[in-house]
Amino acid sequence: MIRRFMAGFMAGRYGGDQLNLFLMALYLTLYVIFLFTRLLVFEVLALALITVSIFRSLSRNLERRRAENNRFMQAVRPVVRRWNTFRARTQDREHRYFKCPNCGQKMRVPRGKGRITVHCRSCGAVFEEKS
Ligand SMILES: [Zn+2]
Repeated sequence: MIRRFMAGFMAGRYGGDQLNLFLMALYLTLYVIFLFTRLLVFEVLALALITVSIFRSLSRNLERRRAENNRFMQAVRPVVRRWNTFRARTQDREHRYFKCPNCGQKMRVPRGKGRITVHCRSCGAVFEEKS
Protein backbone atom coordinates (compact mmCIF):
# COMPACT_ATOMS: atom_id res chain seq x y z
CA MET A 1 0.00 0.00 0.00
CA ILE A 2 2.62 2.48 1.10
CA ARG A 3 4.99 1.10 -1.51
CA ARG A 4 2.41 1.60 -4.25
CA PHE A 5 1.72 5.12 -3.05
CA MET A 6 5.45 5.89 -3.08
CA ALA A 7 5.82 4.45 -6.59
CA GLY A 8 2.98 6.67 -7.82
CA PHE A 9 4.34 9.67 -5.99
CA MET A 10 7.84 9.24 -7.42
CA ALA A 11 6.61 8.62 -10.99
CA GLY A 12 8.08 11.22 -13.32
CA ARG A 13 10.30 12.58 -10.57
CA TYR A 14 14.05 12.56 -10.69
CA GLY A 15 15.01 10.35 -7.71
CA GLY A 16 18.59 9.66 -6.64
CA ASP A 17 21.93 10.19 -8.33
CA GLN A 18 25.59 10.57 -7.36
CA LEU A 19 25.24 14.28 -6.64
CA ASN A 20 22.36 13.61 -4.23
CA LEU A 21 24.35 10.88 -2.54
CA PHE A 22 27.22 13.33 -2.15
CA LEU A 23 24.89 16.03 -0.75
CA MET A 24 23.46 13.55 1.73
CA ALA A 25 26.93 12.44 2.87
CA LEU A 26 27.94 16.08 3.28
CA TYR A 27 24.71 16.71 5.18
CA LEU A 28 25.48 13.88 7.63
CA THR A 29 29.07 15.08 8.06
CA LEU A 30 27.99 18.65 8.79
CA TYR A 31 25.26 17.46 11.13
CA VAL A 32 27.75 15.37 13.13
CA ILE A 33 30.07 18.41 13.30
CA PHE A 34 27.09 20.41 14.54
CA LEU A 35 26.36 17.82 17.25
CA PHE A 36 29.93 18.12 18.51
CA THR A 37 30.42 21.87 18.17
CA ARG A 38 26.83 23.08 18.70
CA LEU A 39 27.61 25.85 16.21
CA LEU A 40 24.42 26.94 14.49
CA VAL A 41 26.17 27.59 11.18
CA PHE A 42 26.76 23.83 10.69
CA GLU A 43 23.12 23.01 11.38
CA VAL A 44 21.95 25.66 8.91
CA LEU A 45 24.37 24.40 6.23
CA ALA A 46 23.32 20.80 6.88
CA LEU A 47 19.63 21.73 6.55
CA ALA A 48 20.33 23.66 3.35
CA LEU A 49 22.07 20.63 1.84
CA ILE A 50 19.32 18.17 2.75
CA THR A 51 16.74 20.62 1.37
CA VAL A 52 18.56 20.86 -1.96
CA SER A 53 18.92 17.07 -2.04
CA ILE A 54 15.20 16.48 -1.40
CA PHE A 55 14.25 19.18 -3.90
CA ARG A 56 16.43 17.52 -6.55
CA SER A 57 15.04 14.00 -5.98
CA LEU A 58 11.42 15.27 -6.17
CA SER A 59 12.08 17.49 -9.17
CA ARG A 60 10.27 16.84 -12.46
CA ASN A 61 12.86 18.74 -14.48
CA LEU A 62 14.85 15.62 -15.34
CA GLU A 63 16.98 17.28 -18.04
CA ARG A 64 18.26 19.91 -15.71
CA ARG A 65 18.96 17.49 -12.84
CA ARG A 66 20.89 15.18 -15.20
CA ALA A 67 22.94 18.13 -16.43
CA GLU A 68 23.76 19.07 -12.82
CA ASN A 69 24.83 15.52 -12.05
CA ASN A 70 26.99 15.41 -15.19
CA ARG A 71 28.75 18.62 -14.18
CA PHE A 72 29.29 17.17 -10.71
CA MET A 73 30.73 13.92 -12.10
CA GLN A 74 32.99 15.94 -14.39
CA ALA A 75 34.26 17.98 -11.45
CA VAL A 76 35.05 14.98 -9.23
CA ARG A 77 36.60 12.86 -12.00
CA PRO A 78 40.25 13.77 -11.15
CA VAL A 79 39.64 12.94 -7.48
CA VAL A 80 37.96 9.63 -8.33
CA ARG A 81 40.77 8.72 -10.71
CA ARG A 82 43.43 9.48 -8.11
CA TRP A 83 41.54 7.45 -5.52
CA ASN A 84 41.22 4.47 -7.91
CA THR A 85 44.97 4.58 -8.65
CA PHE A 86 45.72 4.72 -4.93
CA ARG A 87 43.47 1.74 -4.22
CA ALA A 88 44.85 -0.32 -7.08
CA ARG A 89 48.39 0.30 -5.78
CA THR A 90 47.65 -0.58 -2.17
CA GLN A 91 45.96 -3.80 -3.31
CA ASP A 92 48.78 -4.72 -5.67
CA ARG A 93 51.07 -6.99 -3.64
CA GLU A 94 53.05 -8.04 -6.72
CA HIS A 95 54.76 -4.72 -7.37
CA ARG A 96 56.55 -1.93 -5.55
CA TYR A 97 55.83 1.61 -6.73
CA PHE A 98 58.26 4.52 -6.63
CA LYS A 99 59.32 7.61 -8.51
CA CYS A 100 62.48 8.15 -10.53
CA PRO A 101 64.82 10.22 -8.30
CA ASN A 102 65.95 12.17 -11.37
CA CYS A 103 62.76 13.11 -13.23
CA GLY A 104 59.90 11.98 -10.97
CA GLN A 105 58.51 9.47 -13.48
CA LYS A 106 56.31 6.92 -11.69
CA MET A 107 57.44 3.30 -12.02
CA ARG A 108 56.84 -0.13 -10.57
CA VAL A 109 59.02 -3.21 -10.15
CA PRO A 110 58.14 -6.79 -9.19
CA ARG A 111 58.43 -7.35 -5.45
CA GLY A 112 60.85 -9.67 -3.68
CA LYS A 113 63.84 -9.60 -6.08
CA GLY A 114 66.20 -7.91 -3.62
CA ARG A 115 68.17 -4.84 -4.70
CA ILE A 116 67.82 -4.28 -8.42
CA THR A 117 69.19 -1.81 -10.95
CA VAL A 118 66.48 0.28 -12.54
CA HIS A 119 66.69 2.17 -15.83
CA CYS A 120 64.26 5.05 -16.09
CA ARG A 121 62.43 4.81 -19.39
CA SER A 122 61.66 8.51 -19.35
CA CYS A 123 65.06 10.14 -18.68
CA GLY A 124 67.50 7.22 -18.90
CA ALA A 125 68.76 7.56 -15.31
CA VAL A 126 70.16 4.37 -13.75
CA PHE A 127 69.79 3.77 -10.02
CA GLU A 128 69.39 1.03 -7.43
CA GLU A 129 66.10 0.27 -5.77
CA LYS A 130 64.77 -2.26 -3.29
CA SER A 131 62.16 -4.55 -4.80
ZN1 LIG B 1 63.72 9.47 -14.81
